[in-house]
Amino acid sequence: MHEPGSSWGAKWSLRAQEVVSGLLARLPAKEHYPGSHANRLGALPIGCDMWADYYLRPNGEVVIVGEDFDRPEIDSVYLEWNRLLPVLVWGSERYPELRELLPVRGQEAIDCRCRTHRLFVDNRLRCLECGGIGWLPNKDAKLRSGFID
Ligand SMILES: [Zn+2]
Repeated sequence: MHEPGSSWGAKWSLRAQEVVSGLLARLPAKEHYPGSHANRLGALPIGCDMWADYYLRPNGEVVIVGEDFDRPEIDSVYLEWNRLLPVLVWGSERYPELRELLPVRGQEAIDCRCRTHRLFVDNRLRCLECGGIGWLPNKDAKLRSGFID
């Protein structure tokens, strides 16, 4: 089970499992066929960046296929919240059902500074500090440091 950054107030729940399993079960056959990554990994395809493909398992694991350019056959599996949140934000553009799994913005939350940067607002770059959700649970919280100024 996940113990995501508690400041984000999110937990991987049974409901989250059901939502991802349901989406996986309804994937069209052209994406979920014997031999596909989705089928092999038992995971929902989220998207691809330069060369890696991102998947989400019903148990909340993020699987990245080909993350290491030199070893494209290797799957990387992550359980960390800083990997999961960006995949949820990204995936919810394609699967609106995933939106309900996103953390809820609380009273202490502040806008992430990426919101003032056009490349991030247009979602052409993904913010590492907030994972693309656009806010941080409080002024001290960050997914990762590494904002590109
Ligand atoms: Zn941000």
